[in-house]
Amino acid sequence: MAEINLKDLTIKKAHESLVRGDFTALELAEAYLEEINKRNAELNVYLEVFADVRDQAKAADERLKSGQDVDILTGIPMAIKDNILIKGRIASSASKMLASYTATYNATVIEKLQERGVVFLGRTNMDEFAMGGSTENSAYGPTKNPHNSACVSGGSSGGSAAAVGGNLALAALGSDTGGSIRQPSAFCGTVGLKPTYGTVSRYGVMAMASSLDQIGPIGKTVDDAEIIYNAIRGWDRFDSTSYNLAQPASAEGSGEARKFKIGVPYSFFNQGGVDQAVLDNFNKMIEKLKALGHEVIEVEMPNLHYSLACYYVLMPAEASTNLARFDGVRYGAHVEGKDLLEDYTKTRGEKFGREVRRRIMLGTYVLSAGYYDAYYNKANQVRELIKRDYTKAFETVDIVATPTAPTPAFEIGKNTSDPLQMYLEDIFTVPINLAGVPGMSVPTGKTETDLPLAIQIVAPWREDKNLFALGKIIESCR
Ligand code: GLN
Repeated sequence: MAEINLKDLTIKKAHESLVRGDFTALELAEAYLEEINKRNAELNVYLEVFADVRDQAKAADERLKSGQDVDILTGIPMAIKDNILIKGRIASSASKMLASYTATYNATVIEKLQERGVVFLGRTNMDEFAMGGSTENSAYGPTKNPHNSACVSGGSSGGSAAAVGGNLALAALGSDTGGSIRQPSAFCGTVGLKPTYGTVSRYGVMAMASSLDQIGPIGKTVDDAEIIYNAIRGWDRFDSTSYNLAQPASAEGSGEARKFKIGVPYSFFNQGGVDQAVLDNFNKMIEKLKALGHEVIEVEMPNLHYSLACYYVLMPAEASTNLARFDGVRYGAHVEGKDLLEDYTKTRGEKFGREVRRRIMLGTYVLSAGYYDAYYNKANQVRELIKRDYTKAFETVDIVATPTAPTPAFEIGKNTSDPLQMYLEDIFTVPINLAGVPGMSVPTGKTETDLPLAIQIVAPWREDKNLFALGKIIESCR
């Protein structure tokens, strides 16, 4: 069997090798299966490795052999977060509620990847219903960080990021409501993109907070993330909030030679709470970008301070509504009570985990008649102010940059008894979802103890292509 160096592989390199015949899609899939066999028991990245991986790879090989319909993604092995539906397969959102729920249709993103001949390796672990920032809220145990198994992988797409960061998949899909693609990417040393709201169809991703959710790619390089983004984006008649981004992707146009004007909201993160290693690494990258001729200025974004408070009102409100469908009757688990009401309470009380129950209670509270104006409406108004901060910043700069997360990956168990501390992990990622703009996490080095660090770059609404252009520059100088 061909020796395949998974560590150095990118989508482009794998594609070229597949086309040249250096190795087959089956051999590539087998190399990943072997790695999964070796490490999954320890890392808990995959909740399920699909039994038909080899068959999928053989079908890709047929396509490659015939030379018909060959795409850059044909035969590329990917991991899929457990809240994205693949027809005929279990999708559990890492919840006991949906432990044996089988999807009856494909998410649009899955349909698009399948058409191109992607090989799906399996479904990855996550925080239950995407609520969390460490994958410790999974009903199936935490996913460990591939760089240090005493640490978390981040969350909620921790399984997907650890799969890519640990070479247990070449690329992956995650979902991001408040940072769930970017933060685990920062912790696992991968590139993670939260696209502009609406550019990628949400049809077939289990809804957490519909006005914030986006599906996006996790890859080893910016180029890989861009390739997948271009494959999954576009208008979809099944998602009324989706649209076609009528502009060329960066590969076709924007040019890496471009000089960017980068804004940094220093006052937002210079008030403590951010790890020194994170700050030093961020400042070093900013200096490097300056040395390359990019302009960096300070921007005032006074309302970013309210982002977490605003998010933790709006997100639970939407989540409590979306999760009302899990009533023990229509979907998933059912626990028998003495009457219908007790069916509901028993099913939801026993099958939802602690964090999910906490957020449903919070959400129900802020939506209740007496508090709707004081909390939910107020938070919506604050969301407008946060959006305006970005609009205003983007009148003078092309990109806003911060670290992706205030700390590197932390130890498993460190934040589990303190939800507020856990929520603080989202401080830099949450405002981007509230504003609907695109954001990407790009690795920028490691701590002294070898844990990955990352920068988050944010572009104006629909200007996702600028993230790829600047992301490649960051990769080249880190
Ligand atoms: N960590 C954030 C939360 O717990 C973000 C989750 C997400 O993006 N799905 O809500």
